[in-house]
Amino acid sequence: MMGAKEKERIQQAFKEKMDYEEILNCTRCGFCLPSCPTYVETGNDEVHSPRGRIALMKGLVDGHIEPNEEVKRSIDLCLGCRACEPACPSGVKFGRLLEQAREAIYQSNEQSFTQKLVRKMTFNNLFSHQDRMIGLTSLLGFYQRSGLQKTARTLGIMKLFPETIRTMEKVLPRVPRKKELKHRERYFEPLEKQNKRVAFFSGCLMDTVFRSTNEATTKLLQYAGCEIVVPKAQSCCGALHGHSGERDQAKELAKRNIVAFEEAEVDYIITNAGGCGGFLVDYGYLLKDDSEWAERAQMFGHKIKDISRILVELDFHQLPLSLNKQKVTYQDSCHLRNGQQTFIEPRQLLQSIDGVTYVEMKDANRCCGSAGIYNIVESDMSMQVLDYKMEQTKQTEAQTIVTSNPGCLLQMKLGIEREGLSDRMEAVHIVDLLLEAFERAREQADDVSDKERKEHIS
Ligand code: SF4
Ligand code: SF4
Repeated sequence: MMGAKEKERIQQAFKEKMDYEEILNCTRCGFCLPSCPTYVETGNDEVHSPRGRIALMKGLVDGHIEPNEEVKRSIDLCLGCRACEPACPSGVKFGRLLEQAREAIYQSNEQSFTQKLVRKMTFNNLFSHQDRMIGLTSLLGFYQRSGLQKTARTLGIMKLFPETIRTMEKVLPRVPRKKELKHRERYFEPLEKQNKRVAFFSGCLMDTVFRSTNEATTKLLQYAGCEIVVPKAQSCCGALHGHSGERDQAKELAKRNIVAFEEAEVDYIITNAGGCGGFLVDYGYLLKDDSEWAERAQMFGHKIKDISRILVELDFHQLPLSLNKQKVTYQDSCHLRNGQQTFIEPRQLLQSIDGVTYVEMKDANRCCGSAGIYNIVESDMSMQVLDYKMEQTKQTEAQTIVTSNPGCLLQMKLGIEREGLSDRMEAVHIVDLLLEAFERAREQADDVSDKERKEHIS
């Protein structure tokens, strides 16, 4: 139960932090409702719809309603997927409103000692420090390689954890050793005629747990003719902070990144994680009220480009690409699609691979339920959303589900494991699949030329 003082603080924070003009853009038409997973999954409950949430935000700013647990629940249960944005004829930027509402609540509410500790550990002490991310990933690697994982499973220790964590533990990729994680190349020469000079935003989770996908990304860019720099001073994008009500910290991280990438002087800043890209591209809005940073943040945002976009721009899909015969489907990353309007290029790339039969999934643009740490903190709704996603995935009969974001990738792996489909289906990052297709086509071409040379000699 919220106390009177707490309610007062939250109400005041809503008045100060919300973009009231953006709230007023909502005409209450309801076109966004069918696109909202929480509205659908709660049996069309208006409180858990975009329109309902905006009405609650407005009511709080106007002082017509008081903050209470129901309001907090409505804001907490939102996936932040932004599927309501492209559906909105008035162009309401719901994602921005959600971040402001979460900031108003989480910077003003009373949290238990444990809640404060978990938030501080996660946001201040982990994601903002890449050396600590490396340390934690190394521990995971030790757990995976030392036999501890096997022992924990045999003794049934994992049964002490909630189902989502248990399954997640099974599907996490095998991570590199500390020595490998600490070694990070900062410069790559183009392997083809140079087209562009780009910087790579390597990310925190992507550069630790998914390091091999990052390595595949720089290789693809090299093959596409890019000279690549990976600025050392870059940091976490701040998306997790921004989406969880820690906007001040997100702003600090944004400033660090702006400085780091300005020094690189590049045509584009490339990302391979839809969630990071969706936040990076909007730094201009995040820092719009800071006169020293606003313009620099805008310029930074304009340079952000997803890997699929630059590959298509550089005609990578015209190169020979080949895989074993298989059906492939694509699960959109919400923040790549709704935040960066990128959904044609990944499909174009997949459709250009020889051997691939591309099958479009029904509602591929609907969130998979991963949503940052949502699948841990809102596990029930996350699994409900995932169950729907897996139903659609099975309908495609695809052997390969492709995604463009680490959270979606883990969530789809989790879905496959929960459904007992791991013997016939796998989830992969688009970059890994494209590199495999490129290298395989090159090997095939080499084999053909070897054969022709031998025939010529004989
Ligand atoms: S962000 Fe997603 S879950 Fe939240 S209101 Fe919009 S569509 Fe619904
Ligand atoms: S579609 Fe846009 S304007 Fe209409 S109710 Fe939803 S958010 Fe409001």
